[in-house]
Amino acid sequence: MMSQTSVQELNSGLMGTLIEPQDAGYDEARKVFNGMIDKHPRMIAMCADVADVIRSVNFARDNNLTLAVRGGGHNVGGLSSCDDGLVIDLSRISYTRVDPVEKTVVAGGGCTLADVDHATHVFGMATPSGIYGGTGVGGLTLGGGFGHFTRKYGLAIDNLLSVDMVLANGSFVTANAEQNQDLFWAIRGGGGNFGIISAFTFRLHPIAMVYAGPILYDITEGEEIMKWYRRMVKDMPEELSGFFAFLMVPPVDPFPEHLHLKKVCGVIWAYTGPMEKAEEIFNPIRKFKTPLIDFAGPMPQPVLQTMFDPLVRPGFQHYWRADFINELSDEAIDLHLKFGNMIPTPLSTMHLYPVNGAASRISSSATPWNFRDATWNMIIAGIDPDASNREALTQWTKQYWEALHPYSSGGAYVNFLGDEGENRVRAAYGKNYERLVRIKNKYDPENLFRMNQNIKPSLVTQETT
Ligand SMILES: Cc1cc2nc3c(=O)[nH]c(=O)nc-3n(C[C@H](O)[C@H](O)[C@H](O)COP(=O)(O)OP(=O)(O)OC[C@H]3O[C@@H](n4cnc5c(N)ncnc54)[C@H](O)[C@@H]3O)c2cc1C
Repeated sequence: MMSQTSVQELNSGLMGTLIEPQDAGYDEARKVFNGMIDKHPRMIAMCADVADVIRSVNFARDNNLTLAVRGGGHNVGGLSSCDDGLVIDLSRISYTRVDPVEKTVVAGGGCTLADVDHATHVFGMATPSGIYGGTGVGGLTLGGGFGHFTRKYGLAIDNLLSVDMVLANGSFVTANAEQNQDLFWAIRGGGGNFGIISAFTFRLHPIAMVYAGPILYDITEGEEIMKWYRRMVKDMPEELSGFFAFLMVPPVDPFPEHLHLKKVCGVIWAYTGPMEKAEEIFNPIRKFKTPLIDFAGPMPQPVLQTMFDPLVRPGFQHYWRADFINELSDEAIDLHLKFGNMIPTPLSTMHLYPVNGAASRISSSATPWNFRDATWNMIIAGIDPDASNREALTQWTKQYWEALHPYSSGGAYVNFLGDEGENRVRAAYGKNYERLVRIKNKYDPENLFRMNQNIKPSLVTQETT
């Protein structure tokens, strides 16, 4: 039994704050990005530094409490919270340090992507991450991390040089190519299964200005657009990336009023090559077909990274399903068009994110990210601010995914999984799963870190089967 005295000791030992259900900030602190998640932790440790993380890990372990770790809180399955346990919230550990000579950035374990971009942009550099500023560096990187620059510079894990982390026994270690190589392999895709990362060191690239933005077409032209796009993705230079989307035109400025809420499809482009070549790169795209909307143009990289933040706000309802895709067949395109035309709410969407190029030149056993040969990372996302639309979102997403799953590579991006069972976790890691289990056995045999897409230590598996 956990005593009130031990809770008080934890509280007074923290540089940060311990929030309990009776405290004023509790309801705010327990919120995560997905409004469908409504968990009530026994306490939330708003950690200010590594010492707070170590104290909190030791407390959870010694008191047999369920432990959840929160980076940016974006996991749609709500894995960064728990009922009745302890949440270690890292959002205050959001320092950054750029080394412009070595071209690296150190990011605290609770940084968002926007925090890191803010720090690096002033030096004319960026590290490849995602497509939304508010997403946590922690969860995104530990699952792999794809984004606008994956084709040119690889995944976030391909640019990760070193981590500092707190293990289940409370010890503090560094993992990189020289030290604790097994851990370093495992955390590059294996999620939060192995410990809490207090600092990430990433390689930086010369990404300052980009030429980017959506080019959108009438959905009635969807078949032609999708067939053209599937060729483009294989042939275009790696400096150019672009994810395909079905969407409704957002009913806000700067979208033309007469198109508001119209169902469209198109590509959200991002080009990182020399700006003086950008128009030339976009010429064939513009010549292919006259779009309804063409917002592609030059912009600073952080503007691209935060482009969707004002549209998809924290607290909205999310229900997602995903898979990797190698080939987009004509039959699959027919099904996409059927469900793209049935988008249930204005923010619901389907995205095909290209992950070919630099990311696919790395061996599928070099990190836990198994689907190195995939062309796209597909997500079907039911999204809406209104909780009464929950059923409609869920139904559309499930039916869409069930229709397309037979055309997939057989597994999904671990960061897009919801609560879909152990087989889907195994499928995400494929042949890398057993190696992950061996490393889990070594570093977390009691499965303290289990609020994640869990890699069960084999001892626990045997006991429960
Ligand atoms: C709007 C939106 C846009 C997205 N865009 C992208 C994208 O472009 N690319 C992409 O790859 N993914 C994207 N994702 C998916 C994203 O990678 C996952 O949701 C990821 O889990 C978010 O990380 P987080 O730290 O915000 O999440 P959290 O919910 O805080 O954490 C997710 C998991 O990671 C663990 N974790 C987080 N930080 C740490 C840490 N420092 N140490 C140990 N464990 C930790 C948590 O315990 C939990 O298990 C997006 C998600 C959303 C909601």
